[in-house]
Amino acid sequence: MPVSDPFGGIAGVLAAEPLAKHSQFGVGGPAQWFAQVADEAALRALVLRARDSGVPLTMLGAGSNTLILDGGVRGLVVRYDDRSFTASDGVVMLGGGCMMPRAALDCARRGLAGVEFGIGVPGTCGASVYGNAGAFGAEIADVLVDCDAMAPDGEVQTLDNAACRFAYRFSAFKNSFAGNVVIRARFRVTPDDAASVRRRTDDIQRQRKASQPYGIRSLGSVFKNPPGDAAGRLIEACGLKGMRWGGAQIAEKHANFIVNVERATAADVLELVRRAHDKVAERFGVDLEREIVVVGEPALSATGIA
Ligand SMILES: Cc1cc2nc3c(=O)[nH]c(=O)nc-3n(C[C@H](O)[C@H](O)[C@H](O)COP(=O)(O)OP(=O)(O)OC[C@H]3O[C@@H](n4cnc5c(N)ncnc54)[C@H](O)[C@@H]3O)c2cc1C
Repeated sequence: MPVSDPFGGIAGVLAAEPLAKHSQFGVGGPAQWFAQVADEAALRALVLRARDSGVPLTMLGAGSNTLILDGGVRGLVVRYDDRSFTASDGVVMLGGGCMMPRAALDCARRGLAGVEFGIGVPGTCGASVYGNAGAFGAEIADVLVDCDAMAPDGEVQTLDNAACRFAYRFSAFKNSFAGNVVIRARFRVTPDDAASVRRRTDDIQRQRKASQPYGIRSLGSVFKNPPGDAAGRLIEACGLKGMRWGGAQIAEKHANFIVNVERATAADVLELVRRAHDKVAERFGVDLEREIVVVGEPALSATGIA
């Protein structure tokens, strides 16, 4: 059974930290405990203490793909914030907390091609490996050499590309390596003219701004695209574009995005997700699979700390 303060003696662990401010969508209740750490030793101390105390551990990156429920998250939520970037011999190594757009811009500045797509993925390296993030025709699986992952027993092992078993928005971190934390990853890059890399990076950013809601809080694509089709097309064909529930709305610009138009709650988002899913199933017989990650508890009192 968890004890009342399992993280006593570890600096920087906050109780009842509001998670809305750690979510790009801006919603979510509190974490029972929360810590942001930037090095491997500090992460290991938390991972081991959580394991030994029977406290569930939830990793959070930049919160760009995660819907945090209104009742908050029981246990310990950790943001691994190593934002390091190093480049040598055709490989860039990113800390698990490095933001992908930052990596894309740094690579462009140095004339390194390969991770231009990162400009379209507003999340961390660690989570992007976890979800095999990709944008406009390229994805993590295309460029990852290997990554270092910390297991729940604190041991770090290196997984090469094949061991990550990447597929569309999938990696082994979602099943056989669930509970491992990606602490750094190495990506193959090729030298190129810096202006050309920057032009391609800017093109991706332009396409993104033209086709997706931009400058308004969202979670990215809500559903994975079903084989041979696009979730946004199916949702739009059901007439759901622009549908509002509470403070959330199926975006006018792209029906596979839900935007926070006015103090949305997670419950508002889930209702729109349910309606879109059910309508598409009814009309097209397609069982849309969620791409967003949902964490936490729906009820306000779930963590016992609200
Ligand atoms: C406007 C917008 C546009 C987007 N466009 C795209 C796009 O084009 N392509 C795309 O793929 N995604 C897109 N996304 C989704 C999102 O940016 C990616 O999924 C990104 O990789 C998530 O990173 P994050 O740090 O925000 O992850 P979070 O949302 O914080 O976490 C996502 C998952 O990763 C896990 N996780 C976090 N850190 C680690 C770690 N170090 N080790 C292991 N697991 C970890 C979490 O537990 C959670 O399950 C978009 C999102 C937004 C808001």
